[in-house]
Amino acid sequence: MTGSHFDTVRNGGRYDGRLGILLPIAVVGALNAAGIRLPYHLDVVGFAEEEGLRFKTSFLASSVLAGHFDPALLARTDADGVTMREALAASGLPGNGELATLQAAAVDPATLLGFVEVHIEQGPVLLDKDLPLGVVTQIAGSSRFQVRIEGQASHAGTTPMGMRRDAAAGAAEMILLVESRCGAVPALVGTVGQLQVLDGSSNVIPAACTFSMDIRAGEDDIREAAIADIVAGIHQIAARRGLSVQVDRVQPVYTPRARAG
Ligand SMILES: [Zn+2]
Repeated sequence: MTGSHFDTVRNGGRYDGRLGILLPIAVVGALNAAGIRLPYHLDVVGFAEEEGLRFKTSFLASSVLAGHFDPALLARTDADGVTMREALAASGLPGNGELATLQAAAVDPATLLGFVEVHIEQGPVLLDKDLPLGVVTQIAGSSRFQVRIEGQASHAGTTPMGMRRDAAAGAAEMILLVESRCGAVPALVGTVGQLQVLDGSSNVIPAACTFSMDIRAGEDDIREAAIADIVAGIHQIAARRGLSVQVDRVQPVYTPRARAG
């Protein structure tokens, strides 16, 4: 079995997902044109809602294939109030939108020789090394967090540097901790992609700050060890600066079995 997803995120590029659907179709065409018969059956699949933009749930079609579809999702609505059940039924395919149809689409792993996904590289490494193709050896598990820091608003002109409880300065130190801790291990990456100074003003010491934190590694142990160190470090930084901090895990780990790219 081979395939990929046909939805993508905004600005995800024209090759994200679709390359992994169209290329296998071209391969089947080429094999057919050459009169080559494979010694096994070949399925090409296209996954809907892999990125989960419409119904705010990722891995939707792949979860159906894996037999892990959550029936409660059928009642979930998109931004226009259309339920997933209605959207599936509107596709016009017989039985679509019914749970039994989705359950019947599950594939027994015992019948699979393997699953291969062709995917455009989503980083700069092959480009930098001028290589046309790489083989994935690991798929990173990911953990996402939301961090909220509370300090104290105070006048920018009259509050001495040593008497401040600056939430943004605390956030800056925490972000640098994420960078240094994750930068010290080759297969580990950490990213703060969202950072807000809540009700910030140019002449007021920041009272509250929030930031997102995304930590990934191919090995679960490496990721969890980094998370433990970073969360402990965040609390130490907050305590030293007289800040209060709350770290919430907003996305549990998704395992390599559930994530294809
Ligand atoms: Zn993709």
